[in-house]
Amino acid sequence: MKLRIFGSGSQGNALAIRSGATLLLLDCGFSCRELERRMTACGVRADDVTAVLFTHDHTDHCKGVATFHKRHPQVPLYANGNTADAIATLTGVEDGWRVFETSEPFAIGEIEVTSFSIPHDAADAVGYLFSNATSSLFVGTDMGVPTLPVKDALARATCAVLESNHDPTLLACSDRPVSLKQRISGRCGHLSNQDAADLVREVAPPRLRTLLLAHLSRPCNAPHLALESMREALKDIDRADIALAALDQDEPSDLYEV
Ligand SMILES: [Zn+2]
Ligand SMILES: [Zn+2]
Repeated sequence: MKLRIFGSGSQGNALAIRSGATLLLLDCGFSCRELERRMTACGVRADDVTAVLFTHDHTDHCKGVATFHKRHPQVPLYANGNTADAIATLTGVEDGWRVFETSEPFAIGEIEVTSFSIPHDAADAVGYLFSNATSSLFVGTDMGVPTLPVKDALARATCAVLESNHDPTLLACSDRPVSLKQRISGRCGHLSNQDAADLVREVAPPRLRTLLLAHLSRPCNAPHLALESMREALKDIDRADIALAALDQDEPSDLYEV
C-alpha cells in the first residue's frame, strides 16, 4: 500500500491510501478546493477515489465533504452510524453514506478495513487499521487515552499515523482558557507527546517500519519536541530502525510505502 498525508492538524486532515486500483481517502477536513489542490500537487486524481472514510465529525476532519460529494456523487462515504448522522447534520450531506459497525471488518476493493473505538469528544470517533496481503496501516489521532483496541491495532501495524498533539508544558503555559486546556489533556481530548511515546513503549509494535507523528498542535507543540520524545521511546524498545517523521499542517507528506 502507498500512503500520502495531505495535511495533519487542527486546521484540516486528509490522507490517501492506495493498493492497486483501490484508492481510499480518509477524512475530508480541508475545503474541497484546497484538498483537490493538494491532491493534484501530489499526482492523486479526485476522480480515482474509490471511497471516502471518516474518523469523526469534527470540522477539521469533514469540512470539505459537502462540495466533494456534490462534485463526486458516485464516491461512497463510509462512517459508523453516529458519525454519519452527525456529519449529515453538520454539513447537509444526507445521501451516499455506507454505514458500518465499529470493529466489524469489511473490504473496499483490495483493502480490508477495521475500525476501532477511540475516546474523543465527538459523536462516535474511530481509528482505523487498513490492511492488504502484506502490510497494515494504523491511523489513530484525536484520542484522549489509548484503549485496548488501539493497542491491539497498533501491535499489528507495519506503518502508523499516531497522534502526538501537544507538549504538556507548552499546553499548561499557553494562554488558552483553562476549560480548553482541560479538554485537550482530558480523557476525551488529544494524546500528548509523552502519551504517544508511552504507548509505543508499551506496545513495542513488532512489525512497525514507519511511524508518522500526527495532529501536532501549532501553539502547544513543535516537531522537534514530538520527534525527540518519540526517539527516546524507540531507543528504549531497541527500535531505532523505525523510520520516524512528524507530519505538517500545510505541506503534504512524502509518499510512503506502508
Ligand atoms: Zn482533529
Ligand atoms: Zn477531533
